[in-house]
Amino acid sequence: MPVLVMKFGGTSVATPDRIRRAAKRVGVEVSKGYDVIVIVSAMAGKTNELIGWVSETSAMYDAREYDAIVSSGENVTAGLMALTLQEMDVPARSWQGWQVPVKTTSTHSAARIEEILTDSIGAKFADGMKVAVIAGFQGISAEGRITTLGRGGSDTTAVAFAAAFGAERCDIYTDVDGVYTTDPRVESKARKLDKISYEEMLELASLGAKVLQTRSVELAMRYKVKLRVVSSFEEQSDDAGTLVCDEEEIMESNVVAGVAFSRDEAKMTLVSVADRPGIAANIFTALSEGGVNVDMIVQNIAEEGRTDMTWSCPVDQVKHAHVAMKRAAGDGVINYKELIADEGVAKISVVGIGMRSHTGVAAKMFRVLSDEGINIKVITTSEIKISVLIDRKYMELAVQALHDAFELDKAS
Ligand code: ASP
Ligand code: MG
Repeated sequence: MPVLVMKFGGTSVATPDRIRRAAKRVGVEVSKGYDVIVIVSAMAGKTNELIGWVSETSAMYDAREYDAIVSSGENVTAGLMALTLQEMDVPARSWQGWQVPVKTTSTHSAARIEEILTDSIGAKFADGMKVAVIAGFQGISAEGRITTLGRGGSDTTAVAFAAAFGAERCDIYTDVDGVYTTDPRVESKARKLDKISYEEMLELASLGAKVLQTRSVELAMRYKVKLRVVSSFEEQSDDAGTLVCDEEEIMESNVVAGVAFSRDEAKMTLVSVADRPGIAANIFTALSEGGVNVDMIVQNIAEEGRTDMTWSCPVDQVKHAHVAMKRAAGDGVINYKELIADEGVAKISVVGIGMRSHTGVAAKMFRVLSDEGINIKVITTSEIKISVLIDRKYMELAVQALHDAFELDKAS
């Protein structure tokens, strides 16, 4: 029997009634002849509630107990989904991660899946069971403790099962109907993409498009799992939603696939540090040890043996950066004149695999921004992405102007 993986996010299983709607959709796929593996998230809001209880109980909590508690939301929905399917006369049962087992690393709250043993589920399918319902987001470590995979981790569970079982497709049912050229709340002309390549989706996910956990896209790319993002609130045809797939499967695409943005960024400049080997290593080691997620980095031109170092990071980490730099100076590993923070910036990125073969995308992006009178503060590029930092107050304007200029409202 061909295998299909169907993952339902928190809003799609938020109530027993919604679980019933999801189960009906599972029933449709079963009637087409699939053995279905259903991955469920916790009911919407449940994981946050559980995390709140953990913090309320213990400030310096034991990460192993955190995982034991926070993973429980998925256990409830897995059981309810199996019961609902049984009520519809679909042979189904639930599995928690440890029962499968889903073997993971021991990095609690951010564990990685190492292996999924397919025997117990495979045997049940061979026995006539039609649906295996799996609690997403969780696994078991070599030490025998329950682990979780990080926020949004059920997406990664789904892709990992699809890879392990050689599934025909992995459908991610969610509250949006696919992947858009940009956030429709910022640009009303945003267009749903029928297909997007793994590489582009990976960039968009890591730039903050919340549809898929970044690691799930990484995994899908590595194992060539066909991923489809679909709405669980609309009637579905087989080609609904957005297919995340190999670029070879996309006949024609725009040079730029999408415009991404992240609102709450800060730009920090460490003024007048010694320009000598090891200084960047010392600065960024101290920042990383201080819990600062550095994104863009620019080292300015040196003069008389001194230079400025500029980076961007989430705005709520500015205070951590100040502490980390003071500490590093105190330890004598760096010395600097001052640390300046610009807390009013946003990052705008254009993403597209077409940039590999088309020149002029950067020039066009910069021209569009300058025509709007928007000053660019920092620029970084990769093979398929150009990112700039600008004043946050121009963020919406920049997204709209770029969306227009690259004609993203039109399919190519
Ligand atoms: N319930 C977990 C979370 O809210 C995992 C998931 O839904 O993907 O992050
Ligand atoms: Mg999610």
